[in-house]
Amino acid sequence: MEAEGASRIFQRSVSKGLRYKWLVCDGDSSAYDKVKNIYIEQETAAEADGIDNNDKHKGRQPREVVRMKKTIPEEKPFGGSAGRMTDAMMHKMSEMYGLAIRQGTDEVQENNEDEAEAVARLQKKCLAAFHHLIVQDNKENQHYYCPDGMTSWCSYKRDQATNGNEDERKDKNWLDPVFLDLLQKMIEDLTLKELLSRCLRGLTQNSNESLNSVVWSILSKSKNHGFSSVQGAATAASIYFTGGRA
Ligand SMILES: [Zn+2]
Repeated sequence: MEAEGASRIFQRSVSKGLRYKWLVCDGDSSAYDKVKNIYIEQETAAEADGIDNNDKHKGRQPREVVRMKKTIPEEKPFGGSAGRMTDAMMHKMSEMYGLAIRQGTDEVQENNEDEAEAVARLQKKCLAAFHHLIVQDNKENQHYYCPDGMTSWCSYKRDQATNGNEDERKDKNWLDPVFLDLLQKMIEDLTLKELLSRCLRGLTQNSNESLNSVVWSILSKSKNHGFSSVQGAATAASIYFTGGRA
């Protein structure tokens, strides 16, 4: 419910001539997820509309036009061919980034580390997900953040551990070196410690928040309740919370 409300408030803010910069909410991150890209989506939609209108007489789809406009250094197009940004590469990149976040947050519960250590480790994992895919002359730099050892997901680091040459034989689904500059801003934004510490917050959810959710699993949130039922539910919740639920 909070998420839907936040989304509507953010969406209409632009037409009122303002943009929200901060969202203060409780431990439930769904409201943040719902609004975090709203302004970007609105701008992208407006841009696509603009391109579409300008280009209607040529009958091109906005996406194609965006692709053609994005010719980058080396005089080759931004996307569409080996070494450039393809749909498969976008998919792979977002998959690797998502995996880094999930694995990184799972490990917090296993390792006994404080928040600063956990965020630094998560940041390294996320940087590895991007840098591993962008070719550099110096392979040590390219795979600097990748995990070491024989069980590493990175074939270059596995080769180092086993003296093999698996990396050379791998199917080359890489990005050309020029993308290191082009994607630098995006990589920096997505691996910011402030952002990553948000991902860990769910794991350090305080016990009051958790108790609150137990109360509302007993009572329905969609109805009004009197004092005695709330008191009863709170008592039952505190018993379940401390003693476990049979
Ligand atoms: Zn690597």
